Amino acid sequence: MSFDVVAVRADFPILSREVNGKPLVYLDSGASAQKPNCVIDAINTAYSQEYANVHRGLHYLSSVATEKYEGVRATVAKFLGAQDGNTIVLNSGTTEGINMVAYAWAMNVMTEGDEIILSVMEHHANIVPWHFLRTRMGVKLVWVDTDANGDLDPQKMLDAITPRTKLIAVTHLSNVLGTVVDVKTICHGARERGVATLIDGSQAAVHMPVNVEDIGCDFYPITGHKLYGPSGSGAIYVRPERMAEMRPFMGGGDMIREVHKTEVIYNDAPMKFEAGTPGIVETIGFGVALEYMMGLGMDNIAAHERTLRDYARNKLEGLNWLNVQGTSADKAAIFSFTLEGAAHAHDISTVLDKKGVAVRAGQHCTGPLMDHLGQTATCRASFAMYNTKEDVDALVEALELCHRLFA
Ligand code: PLP
Repeated sequence: MSFDVVAVRADFPILSREVNGKPLVYLDSGASAQKPNCVIDAINTAYSQEYANVHRGLHYLSSVATEKYEGVRATVAKFLGAQDGNTIVLNSGTTEGINMVAYAWAMNVMTEGDEIILSVMEHHANIVPWHFLRTRMGVKLVWVDTDANGDLDPQKMLDAITPRTKLIAVTHLSNVLGTVVDVKTICHGARERGVATLIDGSQAAVHMPVNVEDIGCDFYPITGHKLYGPSGSGAIYVRPERMAEMRPFMGGGDMIREVHKTEVIYNDAPMKFEAGTPGIVETIGFGVALEYMMGLGMDNIAAHERTLRDYARNKLEGLNWLNVQGTSADKAAIFSFTLEGAAHAHDISTVLDKKGVAVRAGQHCTGPLMDHLGQTATCRASFAMYNTKEDVDALVEALELCHRLFA
């Protein structure tokens, strides 16, 4: 099956609107992706026809909502190549997933002086929860740098392991540089040394087929809103041995089987890590988004985006006044850049916006990476399955205008 980008674009109603009197060129999918009709329709149907709280009611609507909600566990498992839905904790996104690992797993198995290895290009969501452990428990954070291309040497991550290392937490794909990390080598090496691995899949799962069994990781969080699903949805894969090491960290309804004045009996995993009424409709929409992606074929999506990446790379490299950060050979179609001269990233993005081109400017929630690059801010154009070569051309044309204005 080939990938028909025109048909895909027709599935996303927002792409046909104008911004500032110009056709929208949406290059901010790395922050959050647009939603296809099937997701929008599923949300509408859920609220207008099938809404009730899940797990608690015996009435018809509650059964329908529960069945749809619970079905998403198996969909996520299929999407991630996990053995079954019992390895999937449903949540509001990667931030919640990583915090769950910090509170439910790490705080249960780590003690003062234990070490966590991080790469310098992590998103704050994969940094701040570990700082909590540093400040509250005396856990040590060990940082591994990227090279001049933005590549991360997996051996350097493994070489950083000491007898006190308990976890390697690393992104699968950098949200700033587009670098794809060889997480399989890291996870297999870590496993041989008895070290757990958390692979932040927020960006990678959007752009390439993922198989957690093949990667060999212990935790793999993903976030629904970047996967063309609703905001406030997400999931984390947890290897069963690690799930058994976790202690519930949020208490409330749904995660319990029995509550008495002197005793609580928890529900089985994964539900014992899901307290309270979840994002019911968000999660149902998330499942529809994943089915949509799988229907298109992750290999097809990846191939289309590779073509875009090569086209964009070639065009952007031709602009000798543009400094592109991250030149890894097999990177994703994510380009962070600054303009030679005085123009601040915010000024560039404002000019691009006037041309209908939406990009992100700032630190992209990656403070340590910005320090490493010696940048205070960059602009980032992040491409998705619905982008075209014409979008690249529009970006380049708007950048040339910036150059003329600010040079
Ligand atoms: N990790 C990476 C690599 C990201 O790009 C993001 C979002 O930008 C996150 C984590 C956090 O995801 P969320 O805010 O959806 O929880």
